[in-house]
Amino acid sequence: MNVFEWTKRLGQQHWSRPNSGVTLCGKPMLGNNYAIGLAKEDKVPCDKCTESVTVLAALDSFGRERAVLKEPPSVLIW
Ligand SMILES: [Zn+2]
Repeated sequence: MNVFEWTKRLGQQHWSRPNSGVTLCGKPMLGNNYAIGLAKEDKVPCDKCTESVTVLAALDSFGRERAVLKEPPSVLIW
């Protein structure tokens, strides 16, 4: 399953399932998503979110990183 990058203004990089409203680590997705506006080297991956995903080698058309969930969604507890 694909997840999308949710990066906060200060560069903390989370991942989220589409339409879930929270990041994989349970943070509310408030404010703007800076996944596109920030350079990769200015981002700090969230440990919890990073544990749950496999980041793919290829970037998307906006230059964002892409990732898929390691586990099927049914085993994750929200
Ligand atoms: Zn996170």
